[in-house]
Amino acid sequence: MSNYHPLTEAEAVQYARSIPGLFSDGAVLTSREIGDGNLNLVFHIREEGREKGVILKQALPYARVVGESWPLTLDRARIESEALQVQAKLAEGLVPRVYKYDPDLALTVMEDLTDHIVMRKGLIARQQYPYFAEHMARFLARTLFFTSDFYVDRQEKKEWVRRFLNPQMCDITEGLVFTDPYYDAETNSFNPLIRTEVEAIWRDDALKREIAELKEAFMTQAQALVHGDLHTGSVMVTETSTKVIDPEFAYYGPMGFDIGALFANLLLSYASHEGHTADEEIRIAYQEWLLETIETIWNGFEEQFSALWQEHVTDEMWRVPGYRERFLTRVLQDSAGFAGCKMLRRVIGLAPVADLETIEDPQVRAEAEMLALHIGQALINRRKTLEKIGQLTAWVREIA
Ligand code: ADP
Ligand code: MG
Ligand code: MG
Ligand code: MG
Repeated sequence: MSNYHPLTEAEAVQYARSIPGLFSDGAVLTSREIGDGNLNLVFHIREEGREKGVILKQALPYARVVGESWPLTLDRARIESEALQVQAKLAEGLVPRVYKYDPDLALTVMEDLTDHIVMRKGLIARQQYPYFAEHMARFLARTLFFTSDFYVDRQEKKEWVRRFLNPQMCDITEGLVFTDPYYDAETNSFNPLIRTEVEAIWRDDALKREIAELKEAFMTQAQALVHGDLHTGSVMVTETSTKVIDPEFAYYGPMGFDIGALFANLLLSYASHEGHTADEEIRIAYQEWLLETIETIWNGFEEQFSALWQEHVTDEMWRVPGYRERFLTRVLQDSAGFAGCKMLRRVIGLAPVADLETIEDPQVRAEAEMLALHIGQALINRRKTLEKIGQLTAWVREIA
C-alpha cells in the first residue's frame, strides 16, 4: 500500500492514458469527478469528441460522507473489483466490464456507463423500465445460485467465504441497518414531524425481536456471495439496459439481503410518490408498476433459480423432495424482512434516500415517510406467513 494516495484529476488522466488500448496516443483527455456516493472517488475520463470514455473508481481510506474521522479499509476496492468480475461471468452484460484493478491505488478501471442513469433518479422522475425486472431476476438467480452450496464444491465454497470476508463493510451494515435506527442513536436523523412514530418503534420490543433475528441472519448465514448494497442507486439503466454497480459491500450472506434491498427501494419509491405525484390516477398507475416489478423480480428469480437447481444440484440432501420449495419460501420471507429493515433505516437512520428527501414540504414528506414506516414494519412482522409474492404486494395496497 506504500504507493497509495488519492488521485488528482490530472493524475487520473495520466493514469488512464497509460493503460494500453484505451485511448490513442496524443488524445486530448478530460477528467470530471462524478462521485455522488458516500465513500469513494469516481473519475470520468473522456477523449474530446468521443462518446465513451472510461471510469476510474478509487477507494478513499475513510468514509467520504463523514470525513477522515471514520477510517475505512481499502480492501473494499479489491472486494468490489473481484465481485464485479465474478458477476460478469455469472450474469453476463449486467455489470460494467472491469479493465484493470490496481491494488496499490485501490483503484478499479471500468466501463463507462454515463449513457445510463442511476435508477433512483429515473424512479423519482416516474420512468418505467420494461426490462429491469427481468434483468434483475436473472442477475439475482445466477449470482446467488452459482456462488451457493447448491452449486460450489463444499471445500471450495469455504475458500470463497474467506476471499470475500468483508468485516468492516459488514460492520457498517450491522450498525446502520440493523441497530442504530431502533433506538435513540446519535447517527439517526429523521423528520421531526414523525418523531411520535419513531419513538413507538423504539418501544416496540416485539418488532425489535424480529429485527434482532434478521440481524443475526445477516451476520451468520453464508448462503451466497451477495452484492450487499443493492439499492436503486447501485443500478444504472437505460430503456433497454440494466447494469449493477458498486459491490464494495459484497460478502457471503443471506440471499434475501439482495432481493430485500431491491424490494425496499422500489417500495420507498412507492411511498415517495404519495408526495411527488399529486394526480391520483397517475400515481396509482406508477405505484402499480412498482408492485408488478417486485412480483416479476421474485417470480423470475424463483423460476430461474429452480431451473438451475434442477439442472445442477446433485447432493442427496438438497434433492430431498420439497426441500427446494422450502428453501425458496425461506428466501422470500427473509427478503421481506430485510426489505422492512432497509425501509425503516432509510427513514430513521443515517443516509436518507433522495426519493423521500426531494419532497420539499415537510408535512407532505412526513406522510410519505410514515407510509414507508408502516410498510416496513408490516414486512418485518408478517414475513413468516408469506408463501407467495402476491401476499406481499397485497399488504402494500392494503396499508396505502
Ligand atoms: P460509491 O461506492 O461511492 O457509492 P458508486 O460506485 O456508487 O460509488 O459510484 C458513484 C456514482 O458514480 C454513481 O452513482 C454514478 O453516478 C457514477 N458511476 C459509478 N460507476 C460508474 C460507471 N461505471 N459509469 C458511469 N458512472 C458511474
Ligand atoms: Mg454507490
Ligand atoms: Mg433520515
Ligand atoms: Mg458504494
